[in-house]
Amino acid sequence: MSEPELSEPEHGTYTGYQWHVREGVPTCAPCRAAKAAYQRQYRATRPGAREADRAWNKTRRHALERLAFEYPKRFQDLLEEERLAMSQSRQVLRPVPGGAR
Ligand SMILES: [Zn+2]
Repeated sequence: MSEPELSEPEHGTYTGYQWHVREGVPTCAPCRAAKAAYQRQYRATRPGAREADRAWNKTRRHALERLAFEYPKRFQDLLEEERLAMSQSRQVLRPVPGGAR
Protein backbone atom coordinates (compact mmCIF):
# COMPACT_ATOMS: atom_id res chain seq x y z
CA MET A 1 0.00 0.00 0.00
CA SER A 2 1.42 3.35 -0.98
CA GLU A 3 1.17 6.51 1.08
CA PRO A 4 -1.63 8.88 0.09
CA GLU A 5 -0.72 11.51 -2.45
CA LEU A 6 0.36 14.79 -0.96
CA SER A 7 -1.73 16.86 -3.35
CA GLU A 8 -5.40 16.03 -3.46
CA PRO A 9 -7.52 16.67 -6.53
CA GLU A 10 -10.49 19.01 -6.50
CA HIS A 11 -13.29 17.41 -4.49
CA GLY A 12 -16.72 17.23 -6.09
CA THR A 13 -15.27 15.92 -9.36
CA TYR A 14 -15.05 12.43 -10.85
CA THR A 15 -11.26 12.76 -10.63
CA GLY A 16 -11.73 13.49 -6.93
CA TYR A 17 -13.83 10.34 -6.55
CA GLN A 18 -11.14 8.27 -8.27
CA TRP A 19 -8.54 9.76 -5.90
CA HIS A 20 -10.57 8.56 -2.89
CA VAL A 21 -10.76 5.04 -4.30
CA ARG A 22 -7.11 4.92 -5.34
CA GLU A 23 -5.84 6.20 -1.99
CA GLY A 24 -8.30 4.23 0.13
CA VAL A 25 -9.73 7.41 1.64
CA PRO A 26 -13.48 7.32 2.40
CA THR A 27 -15.38 9.32 -0.19
CA CYS A 28 -16.76 12.76 0.65
CA ALA A 29 -20.32 13.78 -0.25
CA PRO A 30 -19.32 16.11 -3.15
CA CYS A 31 -17.20 13.37 -4.76
CA ARG A 32 -19.98 10.79 -4.34
CA ALA A 33 -22.38 13.22 -6.03
CA ALA A 34 -19.91 13.73 -8.88
CA LYS A 35 -19.56 9.96 -9.31
CA ALA A 36 -23.36 9.53 -9.38
CA ALA A 37 -23.65 12.27 -12.00
CA TYR A 38 -20.93 10.60 -14.05
CA GLN A 39 -22.76 7.26 -13.86
CA ARG A 40 -26.08 8.86 -14.88
CA GLN A 41 -24.40 10.48 -17.86
CA TYR A 42 -22.66 7.23 -18.77
CA ARG A 43 -25.90 5.22 -18.66
CA ALA A 44 -27.81 7.89 -20.58
CA THR A 45 -25.34 7.72 -23.45
CA ARG A 46 -25.01 3.90 -23.42
CA PRO A 47 -28.33 2.05 -23.45
CA GLY A 48 -27.91 -1.33 -21.81
CA ALA A 49 -24.86 -0.25 -19.81
CA ARG A 50 -26.54 -0.96 -16.47
CA GLU A 51 -27.57 -4.47 -17.54
CA ALA A 52 -24.11 -5.12 -18.95
CA ASP A 53 -22.51 -3.97 -15.67
CA ARG A 54 -24.82 -6.24 -13.66
CA ALA A 55 -24.08 -9.21 -15.88
CA TRP A 56 -20.36 -8.56 -15.60
CA ASN A 57 -20.55 -8.23 -11.79
CA LYS A 58 -22.48 -11.51 -11.59
CA THR A 59 -19.89 -13.20 -13.77
CA ARG A 60 -17.07 -11.89 -11.56
CA ARG A 61 -18.87 -12.98 -8.39
CA HIS A 62 -19.33 -16.50 -9.74
CA ALA A 63 -15.68 -16.69 -10.78
CA LEU A 64 -14.58 -15.55 -7.29
CA GLU A 65 -16.80 -18.19 -5.68
CA ARG A 66 -15.25 -20.88 -7.86
CA LEU A 67 -11.76 -19.56 -7.14
CA ALA A 68 -12.41 -19.66 -3.37
CA PHE A 69 -13.74 -23.22 -3.70
CA GLU A 70 -10.88 -24.49 -5.86
CA TYR A 71 -8.09 -22.69 -3.95
CA PRO A 72 -9.44 -22.19 -0.40
CA LYS A 73 -6.05 -21.72 1.28
CA ARG A 74 -4.82 -19.18 -1.27
CA PHE A 75 -8.13 -17.35 -1.16
CA GLN A 76 -8.01 -17.13 2.66
CA ASP A 77 -4.42 -15.82 2.47
CA LEU A 78 -5.46 -13.15 -0.04
CA LEU A 79 -8.41 -12.13 2.12
CA GLU A 80 -6.13 -11.77 5.12
CA GLU A 81 -3.61 -9.73 3.09
CA GLU A 82 -6.36 -7.41 1.88
CA ARG A 83 -7.84 -7.09 5.39
CA LEU A 84 -4.42 -6.09 6.75
CA ALA A 85 -3.84 -3.64 3.91
CA MET A 86 -7.24 -2.04 4.54
CA SER A 87 -6.59 -1.70 8.28
CA GLN A 88 -3.16 -0.16 7.57
CA SER A 89 -4.58 2.31 5.05
CA ARG A 90 -7.17 3.38 7.64
CA GLN A 91 -4.34 4.29 10.00
CA VAL A 92 -3.11 6.97 7.61
CA LEU A 93 -6.56 8.42 6.97
CA ARG A 94 -7.02 12.09 7.57
CA PRO A 95 -10.09 14.32 7.56
CA VAL A 96 -11.57 14.88 4.14
CA PRO A 97 -13.17 18.18 3.08
CA GLY A 98 -16.95 17.81 3.07
CA GLY A 99 -16.88 15.10 5.73
CA ALA A 100 -15.92 11.46 5.29
CA ARG A 101 -18.57 8.79 5.39
ZN1 LIG B 1 -13.76 14.16 -2.17
